Amino acid sequence: MCGIIGFVGNEPAAPILLDGLERMEYRGYDSAGVAVRSETAGLQVRKTKGRLQVLSDLIHGGADLEGNLGIGHTRWATHGEPNDINAHPHVSENGRIALVHNGIIENYLELKEHLQKLGVTFQSETDSEVVAQLLEYHYNECHNMLEAVGRCLRRIEGSYAFGIICADYPNALIAARKDSPLIIGYGQNGNFIASDVTAVIKYTRDVVYMDDGEIAVLTADSVDVFDDELLPVEKTHSLVDWDVSAAEKGGYAHFMAKEIMEQPEAVRKTISPRIRDGRVVLDNLHLTAEYVRDLSRIYVIACGSSYHVTANPPKIEGICNACGSELVTRPDDVPETVRSRLAVYHKETEALKGFYEKLGKLRLIEGNQPIEDATRDILAALGVSK
Ligand code: GLU
Repeated sequence: MCGIIGFVGNEPAAPILLDGLERMEYRGYDSAGVAVRSETAGLQVRKTKGRLQVLSDLIHGGADLEGNLGIGHTRWATHGEPNDINAHPHVSENGRIALVHNGIIENYLELKEHLQKLGVTFQSETDSEVVAQLLEYHYNECHNMLEAVGRCLRRIEGSYAFGIICADYPNALIAARKDSPLIIGYGQNGNFIASDVTAVIKYTRDVVYMDDGEIAVLTADSVDVFDDELLPVEKTHSLVDWDVSAAEKGGYAHFMAKEIMEQPEAVRKTISPRIRDGRVVLDNLHLTAEYVRDLSRIYVIACGSSYHVTANPPKIEGICNACGSELVTRPDDVPETVRSRLAVYHKETEALKGFYEKLGKLRLIEGNQPIEDATRDILAALGVSK
């Protein structure tokens, strides 16, 4: 889970963006970046691999960047290695649109190839840059940012929370979400978007939770939310009454409770982009059928709950959907310290069975080990995520 923050208001955006990103650091990330815009300095993008502190040092705590409108991002790479170029924000080819994205664009390759054929040059390996370029393409068609975002969202598949700024809209911050969290914060000195209430609670407790398919246009003193047909939506405001430390735990008493409750979302986000048309697609691994055919054994190394729940792996047979060969696990054929752990199998658990059948076209033939406590929430998560 990465973090998104955006601000438009009456004070410098960069320090607010850094502060918001810092409050979301606990979500994990591998790189960070900001884009800030001002009339005089234009669009200023700074991004770097590594800790937020590196970014903060690079822009002197935000003092180097001029402007009251900006977006920030901590990335957890899914497409393209963690490096400076793949870090967000991504900027469209003509430099007009900057975008941060949390999630995965499943049909990014198809869209990228289409745009490349039209002559668009890409800088990064990310799925996210495709959206920045696609937005520019649609903006050039209609010259209306809201309409361009609507057209773009109709073409992309996957999960997303977006923060977008466009040079032609110097006072507006645009946001959209589907299957990735995004909230709007209503402040005294401006308005915010963020992945998490934690990032804005220092400035405001008046928030709106965006729903899937919604688009928001924020200025310093207004917020308009639209549905996927671009019709206005009336949103209900929520008053966050947790203290800051509770907010960091998402309102739960403990981080562990928060993590357990977030498992359905985490499992859904991890698995769904990798299953297409009923087949497992692990395109990041670049495994050829020949390579897979030559494998005699697969070790899945685990620790913590995953280690314990597979203490007695059952037998499994099935067909490898990469090379068509038969798969068999032999629990006894595994060294003590490195167990073959394709994960948890339990024949009574339809959710899990369905998942593994999809995952590897596996057929469970045995697997009646008792489920340990640690596994229950994983199974529940899979059930909810189905
Ligand atoms: N899929 C995007 C990338 O790899 C966004 C990842 C994220 O949610 O941080 O750049």
